[in-house]
Amino acid sequence: MPASETNFDVVFVGGMNSTAVLKFLQCDGVNYKMALVTDRSRFILPQSYFGVSHGHIAELKLESGTVSAQVEQWSRMDTFAKVTQFVPGQNKLRLSNGREYTYKALVLSTGFNHSSEHIEGLTEMEHTPGSNVFVHAIDNKERVDRNYYHGWNHTNGDMICYSPKFPYKGEGSDFYALYYEHFLRQDILQGRAAKNARIQYWTPNKEIFKFGYANEIALEECRKRGIEVFFGWEMTKVAYNQHGQKIATFRNVDSGETIEKDFFSAVINPPSKPHQELLDSGIATSEGVVDVNPYTLQHKRFENVFAFGDCIGVETTRTQSAAIYQSPVIQHNLKQLMEGKELNAIYDGYTFMPFLLGHSYATSFQHLYNYEPHTMNHLIPQYGLFARWYFGRMMKSQMQMGEKFTSFKKTHGPPYYNWNPRYVPLEHNDYLNSRNIPLSEVRMFEPKVRVAHEEHH
Ligand SMILES: Cc1cc2nc3c(=O)[nH]c(=O)nc-3n(C[C@H](O)[C@H](O)[C@H](O)COP(=O)(O)OP(=O)(O)OC[C@H]3O[C@@H](n4cnc5c(N)ncnc54)[C@H](O)[C@@H]3O)c2cc1C
Repeated sequence: MPASETNFDVVFVGGMNSTAVLKFLQCDGVNYKMALVTDRSRFILPQSYFGVSHGHIAELKLESGTVSAQVEQWSRMDTFAKVTQFVPGQNKLRLSNGREYTYKALVLSTGFNHSSEHIEGLTEMEHTPGSNVFVHAIDNKERVDRNYYHGWNHTNGDMICYSPKFPYKGEGSDFYALYYEHFLRQDILQGRAAKNARIQYWTPNKEIFKFGYANEIALEECRKRGIEVFFGWEMTKVAYNQHGQKIATFRNVDSGETIEKDFFSAVINPPSKPHQELLDSGIATSEGVVDVNPYTLQHKRFENVFAFGDCIGVETTRTQSAAIYQSPVIQHNLKQLMEGKELNAIYDGYTFMPFLLGHSYATSFQHLYNYEPHTMNHLIPQYGLFARWYFGRMMKSQMQMGEKFTSFKKTHGPPYYNWNPRYVPLEHNDYLNSRNIPLSEVRMFEPKVRVAHEEHH
């Protein structure tokens, strides 16, 4: 696709999820003029991040294939570029490399603006050697090397595990407090850590998981294992005081009261903020999420815009596994939109959350919309031999899922690998019918043809 082309059928903006859907469409018998705008050329696989950071998974498995190896040259690729301005009313985009594109349909998986800069002093502290402060972000490969000792050297005082305000990147999959408690328990037994050493969990939210089932289990485990849980406290700042102690400042979300608290170690998931260009364009709501129809993932106000992954405002737990399960829905509904047919691929809210209990113990949670437990939810009890067996299995299967999704192969990725799912007409959709969801909640716009039919194979 020559760089001089600026009028596209479909433009994709985002990271590895947009790249994957574009790649799947390329081998799906369409010949739309497509472009991808992404601000990097390869991606960290979120499902392998934790495993690689502690050596459970080989480091080489951390990154996806490059964009240019995944996507064939007949689509335009603008890597290391950003969309700086969205003009949805005119179907137009402005890019940081000076280009201006128009589109018939737009697909977004832009996630959140997730950065340690959102907590005052955190960037300096995480880079101070020996600070024992780790930031959990999935931004670059070097971070994973730096995070190798997260949770391992807590020898005294308090360790703060922090999750930011919902909605955020890592919700449902950043709760490592039980994992750290397992190391600490052994370290105390062996005299490597002082008896006063503790693990604490702090968050501005009022729960660990929005999925009530998982939340109950997590809280019960915390109670049994002496992990202190503090809800409703937002971390605003970290700094050293005059004695060299590390101090975190927390603000109570209800009363506004501010406290200063000393700590020895911290593992922090920094706040996720909406991207300014999405707010400015009106594509995101004032809450900072892209308001799509939860079933079709079509934008509620701009009919030719689709969004998936972390950036969407639907009631499910944001994970990479969820984004992978949304991708065939996007792929199918996009084709339906272009061809003027009904959007009949339905996302049921499926998400998967690893639940780590110790160095090599795990179970997992899975749910659909309305936090309805999935059949496979909590299949493995969270203790004993089964959890020991499952830990390795889950690490591997999660890693392989990410690998397949972003491999150089043009197959369709999990959960279907080699073929596209087929979707029945809306009237016959099992999920909608069995939950009594009226079709008026699914159909939003009159279909109209956007690409001439002879353009197709
Ligand atoms: C510590 C941690 C652990 C996690 N562990 C797991 C796990 O074990 N399993 C799991 O399933 N999930 C896990 N997650 C969650 C997972 O990372 C996210 O759900 C997933 O990355 C969401 O993908 P996304 O494509 O929606 O957004 P992102 O991964 O945030 O990607 C969005 C991309 O779009 C780019 N972008 C944004 N705006 C523009 C623009 N205007 N122009 C060009 N490019 C743009 C961004 O730079 C970025 O590269 C974890 C998250 C964290 C923080």
